[in-house]
Amino acid sequence: MNLSFLCEVLSTVYDKEDSILQQLWDHLRLYHSDTMRSPLFPVVLTVLSYHIVCDIMGDRRPAVQRFKIQPGKRPTLAMLLHCAGVTLRNHLLLVFPASVAQWAWRPPVPIPERAPTLLELAGGVTGNLLLFDFQYFIWHLLHYKIRWLYVTFHAIHHNYMAPFALATQCLGGWELVTVGLWTTLNPVLLRCHLLTTWVFMVVPVYVSVEDHCGYDFPWSTSRLFPFGFYGGPSKHDVHHQKPSTNFAPHFSHWDQIFGTHADFSF
Ligand SMILES: [Zn+2]
Ligand SMILES: [Zn+2]
Repeated sequence: MNLSFLCEVLSTVYDKEDSILQQLWDHLRLYHSDTMRSPLFPVVLTVLSYHIVCDIMGDRRPAVQRFKIQPGKRPTLAMLLHCAGVTLRNHLLLVFPASVAQWAWRPPVPIPERAPTLLELAGGVTGNLLLFDFQYFIWHLLHYKIRWLYVTFHAIHHNYMAPFALATQCLGGWELVTVGLWTTLNPVLLRCHLLTTWVFMVVPVYVSVEDHCGYDFPWSTSRLFPFGFYGGPSKHDVHHQKPSTNFAPHFSHWDQIFGTHADFSF
């Protein structure tokens, strides 16, 4: 197979994928434009996807126990209720008022006619993940270097040394607000298409629940990347057991550079 033939095949595949994206976008514009324009849509999308992913990755299926990172460490009912209570409190006191404020003051979002290409979508999501990874790494590191910050804002997330899906958003209000702000502003800074923005909002929800689910499945996101470039559940599990390591939420390079990286066999 020569190079020009391979390029032609790849370009045909990309063109086909791009036209599928355009068809999907046209369908959304035609039948769901009011929903898409609503300032509440991103909030509903992220909150709903969080609860769906938590339910899928919840700790109750015997068939997946062999993938448990810390075997035998399962959440009790009291732990699940505590995390559900913190999440509900955060949603009622922070997410709900922020949503109402957006609904009241933010103008309807303009909807472009053209869908992003597959490359634009993948590049935008990756760029957002890299930017968020850097921002959260610095935030996280600072909250360990300054004891007051840790005790006041981040300690609640470390109630559990063996994390589980619902512990993902067992967060202090300051942490949730900071993370929400970056997730909202970063796609604007990177001038992402609306579709890319929505995909980016759902991807971190999925990977952050995956990081906390307590299982390292054969299909874990970290296994898609070579050389341990992506952290994944086993690395974040180590952070909950040994909190002075693995500060980055997604990738491993910042922890490698700052000497805070640790594998499961510490
Ligand atoms: Zn965590
Ligand atoms: Zn931490």
